[in-house]
Amino acid sequence: MPESGKREDPIYFRVGIIPKMASGVPDEVMMNAALVKELADMAKDEALLQGVLMRTKETPNSSELVTYAPFTLFPSPVPKSVFLQALAVQTHFNTMVDKISQDTDFLQEALASTIEVDDFTARLFKIHQQILKEGRSQSVVLGLNRSDYMLDQREDETSSLKQIEINTIAASFGGLSSRTPDVHRHVLKVAGRLEDSQRILDNNPVAGLARGLAKAWELYGSERAVVMFLVEEAQRNIFDHRYIESELWKRKIPTIRKQFDDVYKTGSLDLDKRLLVDGKEVAVVYFRNGYMPQNYTNEQCWDVRLMMERSMAIKCPDISTHLAGTKKVQQVLARPGVLEKFFPDQPQVVEQIRSTFTGLYTLDMGPEGDKTVAMALAEPNRFVLKPQREGGGNNIYGSEIAQVLGEVKQSTERTAYILMDKINPTPIQNYLLRRDAPLTVSNCLSELGVFGAYVRQGEHMVMNECVGHLLRTKSSEHLDGGVAAGVAVLDNPLLV
Ligand code: ADP
Ligand code: MG
Ligand code: MG
Repeated sequence: MPESGKREDPIYFRVGIIPKMASGVPDEVMMNAALVKELADMAKDEALLQGVLMRTKETPNSSELVTYAPFTLFPSPVPKSVFLQALAVQTHFNTMVDKISQDTDFLQEALASTIEVDDFTARLFKIHQQILKEGRSQSVVLGLNRSDYMLDQREDETSSLKQIEINTIAASFGGLSSRTPDVHRHVLKVAGRLEDSQRILDNNPVAGLARGLAKAWELYGSERAVVMFLVEEAQRNIFDHRYIESELWKRKIPTIRKQFDDVYKTGSLDLDKRLLVDGKEVAVVYFRNGYMPQNYTNEQCWDVRLMMERSMAIKCPDISTHLAGTKKVQQVLARPGVLEKFFPDQPQVVEQIRSTFTGLYTLDMGPEGDKTVAMALAEPNRFVLKPQREGGGNNIYGSEIAQVLGEVKQSTERTAYILMDKINPTPIQNYLLRRDAPLTVSNCLSELGVFGAYVRQGEHMVMNECVGHLLRTKSSEHLDGGVAAGVAVLDNPLLV
């Protein structure tokens, strides 16, 4: 609090929060520790009031103790043009992912070298093949994905939108990010920035994600059937799910939450391949688990995955759509001519998608992969080395690239990875608010996510939408990691 200790203190009305792009917060605020402390305390209360919540690390499976989900004190500036560009391309990414998921030959070819050496992808692929052999028992596909970007800083100080990855399974924070705009609006109002507060966009991914789930449920066509959230054992981020569950219940669509083990113990297929879990027919399986090897704690989890894929339940995502979101597929898509194959008569769509790609390089055995190795070893700081993993914290940077590639460069093991140009956003100063962390100013990098939702029935797309966004911000000290990994925090774009 400023010395006078009063709300009316003119300091609130003198602070300029968003004066320029280089820094989200002006020096006079950054330097005023008392003011920042007061704004931060108030912001945390507002986050609790608005329901930007998480369970605690200590008690991830109880709501007796909850805290605010970590977030930035101030919204971060994002250029309007690139923000709109990200929204505009989303339905094309939805179409693209969906087309890939149906192109058996493409998936086979793209993943051939990867599944030789990466056990996790190989197991997923084996399920995919088995389903193809048996024939799919459900013609409805539901895709809820999130395409993530960073803004690559150009020499002329403008920035260009570059895709980090697209998440086709368990893409999270659509729930909580529907509640964060009001928190930042409140912070800016209290700080005397009423006009800026009105520039924070509405955002409601929950509505669109729930609309997708509801549409799929409807097409399944049984009123008593449920939407099953397949969830992890530790459920810190349960509120993010609850927002979607609530929306579904409002539409009189019943939901249940089950873990792999529950489905193993109480799940079965009937003669028509209807999936029954705990006595209930499942219309939609919504995966919020199953995206990384650690989620499959034993063989039974794999049995359960196969059973669900075989079933008549609509899978979000189905196994082929899951595979379409691998980093290897992302790299293959960036090769010349590949996007054209998926959009043969739509050069503008190809251009729109391709303009978001940064350099992606194969590590397959052969001269092209050898060239990638040499390039990475010569300038490791220019690149990110990526294995086929999700959930943050798996990528390899800088000198470690040299170390890892040094070890695997002569063997097929290198084909478990892809190489990607490192994207360099402009750092922006902000405060990251998280429980038990000191209130200090950080140099931050932001990542913009855009949520897509689509439903296809047979050949026919019955829904294809961009349903909202997510801005996550982390300290530039951390190279990798999302909100769930404890590195990034929730944020909102302030369009400039
Ligand atoms: P995951 O599926 O684990 O989230 P990502 O590809 O999103 O994998 O990488 C995790 C994090 O690593 C990203 O959130 C981002 O912070 C960082 N990162 C990934 N790719 C790049 C890149 N090309 N340039 C800069 N940072 C990157
Ligand atoms: Mg991912
Ligand atoms: Mg990611």
